[in-house]
Amino acid sequence: MALNPSDLIRPEILSLKAYHVADASGMVKLDAMENPYPLPADLRDLAAGLAHQTPLNRYPDPQAAQLRRAIRQHMAVPDGAQVLFGNGSDEIIQLIAMALARPGATLLAPEPSFAMYRMIATFCGLRYVGVPLKENFSLDPDEMVLRIEQYEPAVVFIAYPNNPTGTLFDLEAMMRVVNAAPGLVVVDEAYHAFAGSSFMGELPRHRNLLVMRTLSKLGLAGLRLGFVAGAPQWLGEIEKLRLPYNINSLTQAIATRLIDNVGRLNEQAAAIVTARTQLARALVDLPDMRIWQSHANFILFRVPNGPRTFERLKRRGVLIKNLHGAHPMLDNCLRVTVGTPDENVAFLQALRDSLA
Ligand code: PMP
Repeated sequence: MALNPSDLIRPEILSLKAYHVADASGMVKLDAMENPYPLPADLRDLAAGLAHQTPLNRYPDPQAAQLRRAIRQHMAVPDGAQVLFGNGSDEIIQLIAMALARPGATLLAPEPSFAMYRMIATFCGLRYVGVPLKENFSLDPDEMVLRIEQYEPAVVFIAYPNNPTGTLFDLEAMMRVVNAAPGLVVVDEAYHAFAGSSFMGELPRHRNLLVMRTLSKLGLAGLRLGFVAGAPQWLGEIEKLRLPYNINSLTQAIATRLIDNVGRLNEQAAAIVTARTQLARALVDLPDMRIWQSHANFILFRVPNGPRTFERLKRRGVLIKNLHGAHPMLDNCLRVTVGTPDENVAFLQALRDSLA
């Protein structure tokens, strides 16, 4: 007799909800922390030329040697640290979790934080432990150290700056976590371009530290490229799980040359930071509004009725992220990605109307 999927699929997978990506067609799209600016025209021409030259009949370079050179050169990867590439940093989280998923192993993260840490822990059969942030969304080092001692996690993930709160955690609190952890600590610097602070320089001093980055927030979300840097003793093992051709030829060719021009992408990031300050100022002035200072390319804010405001914004053609229900500390919270100045004006106007 034929079996049903539910007879064969792991129960923890059956009880998961699929990751939902909202349809944004025709909307002002401020939901996914993308860079709102297209690639400058000359860099688009460069990418088109590279696409033209790339031999698509051949498999990609499994070592991504050119890309590796560009990343090492332009991303301040310390000598002695190894680099591992992922199809987005999402994939790197998954590789790390798969490598560490011994029976009973734990993945620990502060929360609220990036939802994928918990989801990937579940996919890979790791126990997930979430440690609440303080009420102001700062890291609670005492609680982190206590839970680390209690659960002895194989890995701790910390987003720096944090998503969805935008907080840049205190350095001393972070170092207490790094020093207390018996296993790996992955500092996820997805929003590094907007933060001006990094743990990359700490790598030589801490063998259990990995620093993860992505090109997604730098204007290249469509290329899908993330990397992690750290001690070869760790990354050499995790590398064994990486599928040999996970970074396709077009991504390798285009990302290599765009990273050589990373200054141009950082100019866009700087414009986003300026716009973030203006947007935050405008938000603070609205009635019954609470906002949290952000070091990323988005702003978290709380309104009296989050789900209603979210729906009203959507009806006015503005898509942001509704976080109400995602975590008890995020009641009535919404997250807006910083857009172009025009998009931010459109969002603010729609928000004023939606709150009225
Ligand atoms: N880390 C954090 C903290 C994120 O917010 C995101 C994306 N939203 C990622 C990692 C994954 O990014 P990507 O897979 O595009 O590199």
